[in-house]
Amino acid sequence: MPYSYDDQNIFAKILRGEIPCKKLAETEHCLAFHDIAPQAPHHVLVIPKGAYVNYDHFAKAATDAEIVDFTRFVGAVCAQLGVCPTEAQAGYRLISNAGPDGMQEVPHLHVHILAGANIGPLTA
Ligand code: ADP
Repeated sequence: MPYSYDDQNIFAKILRGEIPCKKLAETEHCLAFHDIAPQAPHHVLVIPKGAYVNYDHFAKAATDAEIVDFTRFVGAVCAQLGVCPTEAQAGYRLISNAGPDGMQEVPHLHVHILAGANIGPLTA
């Protein structure tokens, strides 16, 4: 089945500036912003600016530049949050939900960064 991207999803609207977000950082290809309903002391969403539904869509269709930028940006945001285990005693979880079995609510690829506490079982 081909990937079908709904450009009315809430993250597409954030990227177009139609609704606000609490921006943390951005690059040419990516945006990081605070989750509206945080499930940890730090709960940040990282999204590509391109129209990708989920991780496997991104892995298949994104350019190498987008993939490199996204991968490095997730790490840079963790560093910006000060949660890298090399810098503190902390740590983080990265979660990316896809499709109904993955409990994905917003059909635009996003990685949850959860940190700032012992996060416990995966719920995001
Ligand atoms: P789930 O809600 O099951 O975690 P997703 O992985 O699709 O599903 O996550 C969507 C995330 O987007 C949720 O954590 C939700 O709180 C967050 N969210 C929804 N709308 C906004 C918004 N306008 N700004 C920031 N975060 C949002």
